[in-house]
Amino acid sequence: MTILDVKSFAAGQWVGCDSNAQNIHCAISGELIARAGCASLDVENMLDYARSHGGPNLQAMTFHERAKMLKALALHLSKHKQALYDISFQTGATQSDHLIDIDGGIGTMLVFASKGRREMPDDKIYLDGEVEQLSRNGTFLGQHICTSMKGVAIHINAFNFPVWGMLEKLAPTLLAGMPAIVKPATATCYVTELCVKIMLDSGLLPKGALQFVAGDLGNLLDRLNAQDVISFTGSEKTALKLKSKPSILENSIRFIAEQDSLNASILGEDAISGTPEFDLFTEEVLREMITKAGQKCTAIRRILVPETQVEVFINVMETKLGSVIVGNPKDPETQMGALVSQSQRQDVLSKAELIGQEAECVFGDQNDFTLKEKGQSNGAFMSPMLFHCESPDAASIVHDVEAFGPVATVMPYKNLDHAIGLVNRGQGSLVASVITNDADVAREVALGAGAYHGRLYFNNRHSMNESTGHGSPLPHMVHGGPGRAGGGEEMGGVRGVMHYMQRTAIQGSPEIISRISNKWVAGANEITHSEHPFTRCFHDLEIGETLYTASREVTIKDIETFAHFTGDTFYAHMDDEAAKRNPFFPGRVAHGYLLLSFAAGLFVQPDEGPVLANTGLDNLRFMKPVEAGDSIKVRLSVKHKTPRNEEYGEVRWHVTLTNQDDELVAEYELLTMNAYEYHVPSK
Ligand code: NAP
Repeated sequence: MTILDVKSFAAGQWVGCDSNAQNIHCAISGELIARAGCASLDVENMLDYARSHGGPNLQAMTFHERAKMLKALALHLSKHKQALYDISFQTGATQSDHLIDIDGGIGTMLVFASKGRREMPDDKIYLDGEVEQLSRNGTFLGQHICTSMKGVAIHINAFNFPVWGMLEKLAPTLLAGMPAIVKPATATCYVTELCVKIMLDSGLLPKGALQFVAGDLGNLLDRLNAQDVISFTGSEKTALKLKSKPSILENSIRFIAEQDSLNASILGEDAISGTPEFDLFTEEVLREMITKAGQKCTAIRRILVPETQVEVFINVMETKLGSVIVGNPKDPETQMGALVSQSQRQDVLSKAELIGQEAECVFGDQNDFTLKEKGQSNGAFMSPMLFHCESPDAASIVHDVEAFGPVATVMPYKNLDHAIGLVNRGQGSLVASVITNDADVAREVALGAGAYHGRLYFNNRHSMNESTGHGSPLPHMVHGGPGRAGGGEEMGGVRGVMHYMQRTAIQGSPEIISRISNKWVAGANEITHSEHPFTRCFHDLEIGETLYTASREVTIKDIETFAHFTGDTFYAHMDDEAAKRNPFFPGRVAHGYLLLSFAAGLFVQPDEGPVLANTGLDNLRFMKPVEAGDSIKVRLSVKHKTPRNEEYGEVRWHVTLTNQDDELVAEYELLTMNAYEYHVPSK
């Protein structure tokens, strides 16, 4: 059998391993399959290359261009995923495990691509929050902005998800405009190498955006500076070692840590045997124990069950676990494959032995942790193991030791407060789940355990058909947890992109804020054209382009006609005495919606043209009532523009309505879709 030489991709070149390389064995057969590591890798040159090529190339692109690149990369990977499946079996993963790692990784990239297009501007600066008025007259404003960090993101990943682990970090990094150097765990780096190769061969990535280290990082971490970011996933022990390096502390280098976690799941007191929730709970626990052979940072390690339900729960689990087919992951019947390596298996068994000091093994053999061999004598197979800890209050190991394999412990609880106290003994976890059909229980858990968890997952008969599972971190939601779990917070949509950007508070005049943010703010320069803005195509419209309309008087007849036509005969529009008793109104007033309709009538240019549709209205406020006899007029300014597809983009207009005394009556943002091109049809 050929032994793979897992190469690194450094400064544009693939570099093979050398005599210092580490051996990598197949999880199924134990055979030597690959070697990885090159002591002579020029890490300084890699950092220079990323900073001088990758950063500038990515930062020349807008968020939308980067998002399009991510989408193309994800679709390209999707076309080549069979090759990734094929090689991944050797890590011990089954086909269903591949769906989480490979398809899950590609799906995560697609979500970031879509969020980049929908939630970020077609620009290089991201605005965090709204403009802050810092002065009485509005001539001095504030705005928080985020710009790309100018260094390199170093991604250090755990062995269990060689594809997802890389892509969930890479997608937000590239979207932020930062180049990355990816260092996967050596045990499964041959899978990551193939994924990196597929991405680089696509030609979609700009030069320097992605480099890859197989094996050791050498002294790369000692050469970082404050513009660099380290994003780490792995054990608490390694995280502590790396983040306490003097060079990292001295330079205040951002260090995002996703560590191990003693995640728990609670069976609600309402969810007794015989309810749909009880069955759902046993299925969730089973899935969490056997998926990836339990080598999942989010897997359920502690199972909290009401005292009265412990016996029945264990009985059901014994039956379920007893029918799990453990074996060669390539066999389609197999439900649980092998652990990644013999050393990982030994580590899990020794941790299980420790747990056995405080808990009785009720499934799997506590004294004889022999391999459940399925014809593969050196494979890293083991049986799932379920423990029962009768006195979880007195125990400590079960709340502290993570056996990173198919091992979990059942614990009884007396009441909800007791359950919350036990869940929190994980000292900070990635996720806790509660299976309950009682929404009050959910609120109590959110209040009592939220501060100890990065994610709380509730499931019951109403959500079970569409829920995504206790153990699945989703790109839309934050993944990470406080304390023991590392204190990190990855993904969570655009929040995850911000790890690779610097937030800066900008203060200045409206014109300065408007120019930096590419968003018109009141008080900034207004641009006027002889043509009506509705006749101008998307790209021609300028930020700050403004139209002032004529004014229109609002009469009592208008108010009455509108009231009877729409059916809105609310007393404030119809009954002068009643309106006067209301602290907001001087007497009968015009409907707010009548004013909006009149405003449209004042600013609209009615002919067929580049404005395709009015798609909405944001931040509407009515500031001053309008009575019969008052007049209103409109100011309409182009606030912001966002391309949406190949044909049209969204224009956000800032609209103000003022009365005859120039007092502000209403303010809102109008959204329209405007064509890039418009040709007057020939008659
Ligand atoms: P690990 O032994 O801590 O290794 C994690 C990564 O750190 C690997 O890439 C490893 O590379 C690297 N590393 C180790 N020492 C290093 C050093 N001195 N300098 C630079 N890099 C170094 O963890 P693992 O065994 O791969 O993964 C299992 C652990 O990860 C479990 O505890 C699990 O809970 C945790 N995990 C957490 C999450 C999460 O999102 N919170 C996700 C998955 C896994 P080598 O392989 O080359 O040593």
